[in-house]
Amino acid sequence: MKTIMLLVLLACILAAVVYFVVRRKTDVWPVGKPCSLCGAESGYGYEKEAEELANIKPMCLTCLVAQLEKDYAAFAGRAVVIQPADGPPSYVFQPLKEWRQYVKKSKIADDTASLLAKLEPTCHDCGRKANFLWIESRGLNGDNFTETLDKGISETLLRGNPKPVSLCAKCCVGHIANDLRDKHISYGEVCSPRGAENGFVVPMGL
Ligand SMILES: [Zn+2]
Ligand SMILES: [Zn+2]
Repeated sequence: MKTIMLLVLLACILAAVVYFVVRRKTDVWPVGKPCSLCGAESGYGYEKEAEELANIKPMCLTCLVAQLEKDYAAFAGRAVVIQPADGPPSYVFQPLKEWRQYVKKSKIADDTASLLAKLEPTCHDCGRKANFLWIESRGLNGDNFTETLDKGISETLLRGNPKPVSLCAKCCVGHIANDLRDKHISYGEVCSPRGAENGFVVPMGL
């Protein structure tokens, strides 16, 4: 009898732990919550830096795009920007220096540096100063995005996509916004290029 009671007690404790873990995760997840700026339904979570899930702000598409326009215009470095793709939960900026420090054996940082060396001085769409290299993402999905990180962009995406295009901040955010809108892509975590260090923006896991 005592053993049964002990087992029941253990089962209750386990159920409580699972409940709190699941609740915490859904509490943090921003998609579907009211936009933190205008109250409309959010399709995105915005944060200043990648992996800061506790400080994530739910945002609707309109408020997110306005924020990205400010961030991309203020960015003083150069970045490769991979077109949004449906599947991975995040769309985040990774500075090259930190990426190299924390993710060993990944080719994307060296590949980004050599791609950025080919950036044209002016925007393909409007002729202003370009500091983003836009790469289309046909073929990238929720199952294979780690391949792009491991093997780099040239050996994966660039094999089946058009040549990269140099863009200014305004046109780059315009391209991102069109893709998010037209393909109904939602991201639980979005963060922009910041500061002056070169890097890449990529659809990836949390
Ligand atoms: Zn909003
Ligand atoms: Zn432009």
